[in-house]
Amino acid sequence: GRQGKGIQEAKFVGVPGSPGAAVGTAVVMLPPADLDVVPDKTITDITAELGLFKTAIEGVRADMRALSAKLANQLRPEERALFDVYLMMLDDASLGSEITTVIKTGQWAQGALRQVVTEHVNRFELMDDAYLRERASDVKDLGRRLLAYLQEERQQTLVYPDNTILISEELTPAMLGEVPEGKLVGLVSVLGSGNSHVAILARAMGIPTVMGLVDLPYSKVDGIQMIVDGYHGEVYTNPSDVLRKQFAEVVEEEKQLSLGLDALRDLPCVTLDGHRMPLWVNTGLLADVARAQKRGAEGVGLYRTEVPFMINQRFPSEKEQLAIYREQLSAFHPQPVTMRSLDIGGDKSLSYFPIKEDNPFLGWRGIRVTLDHPEIFLVQTRAMLKASEGLNNLRILLPMISGTHELEEALHLIHRAWGEVRDEGTDVPMPPIGVMIEIPAAVYQTKELARQVDFLSVGSNDLTQYLLAVDRNNPRVADLYDYLHPAVLQALQNVVRDAHAEGKPVSICGEMAGDPAAAVLLMAMGFDSLSMNATNLPKVKWMLRQINLSKAKELLAELMTIDNPQVIHSSLQLALKNLGLARMINPASAKTL
Ligand code: PEP
Ligand code: MG
Repeated sequence: GRQGKGIQEAKFVGVPGSPGAAVGTAVVMLPPADLDVVPDKTITDITAELGLFKTAIEGVRADMRALSAKLANQLRPEERALFDVYLMMLDDASLGSEITTVIKTGQWAQGALRQVVTEHVNRFELMDDAYLRERASDVKDLGRRLLAYLQEERQQTLVYPDNTILISEELTPAMLGEVPEGKLVGLVSVLGSGNSHVAILARAMGIPTVMGLVDLPYSKVDGIQMIVDGYHGEVYTNPSDVLRKQFAEVVEEEKQLSLGLDALRDLPCVTLDGHRMPLWVNTGLLADVARAQKRGAEGVGLYRTEVPFMINQRFPSEKEQLAIYREQLSAFHPQPVTMRSLDIGGDKSLSYFPIKEDNPFLGWRGIRVTLDHPEIFLVQTRAMLKASEGLNNLRILLPMISGTHELEEALHLIHRAWGEVRDEGTDVPMPPIGVMIEIPAAVYQTKELARQVDFLSVGSNDLTQYLLAVDRNNPRVADLYDYLHPAVLQALQNVVRDAHAEGKPVSICGEMAGDPAAAVLLMAMGFDSLSMNATNLPKVKWMLRQINLSKAKELLAELMTIDNPQVIHSSLQLALKNLGLARMINPASAKTL
């Protein structure tokens, strides 16, 4: 129903790519040259044509290196490797040689380029795997860049406004580097998802991003004012003054907050009545490490190991994994680092390990995949154990466990890997092992699972989707996705009760833990630690330092008697307001009000 509203004040709904809000000016990055309309043309001077093509390749190569260097201090080498992929594709052995071959048949360089690129793009676009389809955009981007050189009309240098919101039909990693540092405040891509390379990079760089904004008439929005709401995956074009002001306040508040909150860095997270609440971080990219340390995290509650796997072009070897894990473990040492075993499937796929299913979230995911492929699990566990040698701050966490049989199988494999690395001379103790509670079946088996492990961690993102039968990635049912739903709160409270009955600590690492208002309730339930993204950590700390545990428990008891989610939301907001704590209420938790 949004079509036709054009560029008037309108709201467009996509999917969240990277959290945060931004108000700024839209800069549309059009493809610099249109490959599709290049005609065929026969040439006689093949040598001259090959020379032209070589110059174009060198130009693009130099551009790529410059972009990569520009992003050097923002991305880890592994993330920058995306640019190496581009460079590799230009190699003589790859795209480059195919194009050269066509030129040698008498086709001009532009025509040869169109032919080869189109073939590759078509092949990639036919693939079922979302990650592989993303490769098509990389090839297209390269093709456009080469064409621009061949047509000697490289993208004229744009003048970027101070608060640039970069928009493209298909944002690519390379485009991120085009905007001078400090000017880029938001990103919008018409195509792609939160899985796209560009979204992964945007999160690492902390730039609010909306992906998959398919209804946006992007070619008409250049220069207009725009709001990017990366929390909810929404964009407002030509926002009213009221709305602009509202979001400008959110942005300014975020800025002031993070400045003001810097002061909290070295203070403990302790309530007014002296209750200590350890705050941990979720990580995945190297950029997270620096941010976590700046914000006073006490450990890593969830290291999503699939992130380095997703960035790679093939399964990383044991040695490569060891190096990546070692980096995490030593960065946080002596604080504990909780490494989750590979959690692919669902919406997280690897280009080199495609999984095609009708119901991926109810399918071959997480531990199900790695138990079917013990070689993957063993290599990963061995790498983790070896990486921890001399540091001994590793904890291993198992995702998507639905019952004790899976846990026992995984524990068996971990012990086997431990025996192997010790036989090979690695001196490392058995790390604490934990299980994620994120499938409803696990909620009802908390005690049985707890008996066999050292700790538990609730994955409220998945637990919410499975309890409420609401696909966490489907924008159509996003309003029904609610971690403050009474059923979710009941489940969480039961998990804490049962874990503690077995004398085991229980943490929570879903997005909910980073919502300051929800964190009050989680603390009251008795969670032993909260793990969240580094951005939200200071806000949660601020909130918990302003409240009494006894007050939080009263509030929880009151909310647990309410059966209507809306009333739970409004009662929570009201109670925090009455305590003078409204300032830190997260836009995400205020959303359903
Ligand atoms: C969760 O499900 O809550 C969780 C922390 O894991 P992920 O979001 O990676 O599925
Ligand atoms: Mg999960």
